[in-house]
Amino acid sequence: MTASYDIIVIGAGLGGLGAAFEASRAGRRVLLLEQHNLPGGFATSFVRGRFEFEPSLHELPDVNSIEEAAGTIRYLVDDAGLDIDFVSIPEAYRVILTENGTNVRMPFGLSQCADLIEKEVPGSRESVTAYLDLCAEVQAAFRALSGGEGPPDYRKIFKEHGNFLRTGSYTAEEVADALNLPAKARDLLYPYWCYLGVPMNRVSFTIWASLLNAYLSAGAVIPKLRSHEISAAFVRGIEDHGGEIRLNTRVEHVLVEDGRIQGVETSLGERITCEALISNASPTLMFNFLIHPSSAIPAAAKKMVNARRHGFSLVVVYLGLDADRHALGLEDYSYFIAPHMDTEKLYQGIYSLESDEIMQASVCLNAANPTCSPNGTTILALTAGYRSEAWEDVRAEDYFRVKTRAADRLIRQFEQATGTDIRSHIEEIEIATPQTFARYTGAYDGIVYGYEPEPWYSVVPRALSMKKETFVRGLYFCGGFSYRCHGYGSSILSGKDAGETAVRDLESGVTT
Ligand SMILES: Cc1cc2nc3c(=O)[nH]c(=O)nc-3n(C[C@H](O)[C@H](O)[C@H](O)COP(=O)(O)OP(=O)(O)OC[C@H]3O[C@@H](n4cnc5c(N)ncnc54)[C@H](O)[C@@H]3O)c2cc1C
Repeated sequence: MTASYDIIVIGAGLGGLGAAFEASRAGRRVLLLEQHNLPGGFATSFVRGRFEFEPSLHELPDVNSIEEAAGTIRYLVDDAGLDIDFVSIPEAYRVILTENGTNVRMPFGLSQCADLIEKEVPGSRESVTAYLDLCAEVQAAFRALSGGEGPPDYRKIFKEHGNFLRTGSYTAEEVADALNLPAKARDLLYPYWCYLGVPMNRVSFTIWASLLNAYLSAGAVIPKLRSHEISAAFVRGIEDHGGEIRLNTRVEHVLVEDGRIQGVETSLGERITCEALISNASPTLMFNFLIHPSSAIPAAAKKMVNARRHGFSLVVVYLGLDADRHALGLEDYSYFIAPHMDTEKLYQGIYSLESDEIMQASVCLNAANPTCSPNGTTILALTAGYRSEAWEDVRAEDYFRVKTRAADRLIRQFEQATGTDIRSHIEEIEIATPQTFARYTGAYDGIVYGYEPEPWYSVVPRALSMKKETFVRGLYFCGGFSYRCHGYGSSILSGKDAGETAVRDLESGVTT
């Protein structure tokens, strides 16, 4: 054993960065180990030619203004005091459904949305307003449960937000049915389903309601210098608090003895001991591959992770275009394009590379951040969900041809839906697949969406079973596979929670 720390954090994704930040801020000796040559995981940036691309973030929601922001932004700028420059997203999204001719720009603000939907779907106001109010109530309960100082007052919260419990075991579709939400209104409200990656007939209403309210009720922002700006700010914060970060250092083994964390073994051959270990690598990786010796892997843990339904991955086509966005006809920031909004059919489509049931969520970065690329150029990223199973039979020698074809379909779908000419303006193109995400972040099967949040395994059941599901004393999880589910805000806050819990447990001498 060459060195010893209070807390080791595996992985400098948003969860790991948040955890290392909190643990080092609390005065603990912290070592953060990252296999890649950059911190951030998915929250990073990359350069091709004269373009600096945003690899992942479309938007951080729930922000009227930075000064009044709640949730993650409040945490980042106020509590953590990180220096990050944000720019605002102009409108919620444009939804284009090619089979029924829907082409609508959705605004931010619940009453503005209800007004617009009433215009598009006359007579819908009552059920739409009831639906949006219910979503707002669910998110308010969430905030009250997780945001306050000290332990939450459950009796008061459940009295004030009774529908949080009443709707807790339903899917999003069941609640929409109960409120008679018209089909056409669903077409306009459902596009964000692709940010959860589970069709509406299976996704937990609780998490859907919180997400929809967060995205629609207020505005949204992105960091001016790509999501790398958030990761870099965390790195400065961790180092300022005395935390140590080692890049290019992969944790090969997590050492466990008598059901307790002992330390790690790195790709550089070092053995490092610790009192507590916070993992930004998923439970799937931890309980299938990382714990050493394998006889120390609790059988129940392996069974638990392999019984979870893993979320989907993505194909992203990053485009640097040689013309101004207005000249190209790209007037919106966020485009949701699909043949229809039957989310079950769209979900089934992501199992095949040949399916025409493609939904893309695409962003034109310049519409929110005009100076993100040189004058007279535009950055456009086209994104579509694919299950990693769709790539299973692709042979190595066919990989580049297959991924080029997948990109071709997305570009064609975008051009046909928006009536724009993108193809003849491509100066730079990069295509990411599940293989790309696996390569850069080590994510199992290139999964970017953690475990699927169905009602039986959404945030609340996960929070309630979190302690039981670590299985090894001194081990904590954070990031998109942990209890808050995936996404920027969830990953950051899950890291904060894990860092604080580990510190608290070390102080009380009881590592969970
Ligand atoms: C294209 C795309 C678009 C997205 N859009 C949005 C969006 O608009 N809004 C939103 O909220 N979310 C979005 N997401 C999801 C969001 O990016 C993720 O949920 C979040 O970044 C996951 O963070 P994480 O903490 O789980 O860490 P990850 O980013 O998964 O990072 C894990 C880190 O751990 C490291 N690691 C793993 N194993 C080891 C090991 N053994 N040793 C050392 N290091 C290790 C990895 O290298 C990596 O750096 C998007 C994702 C993608 C890919």
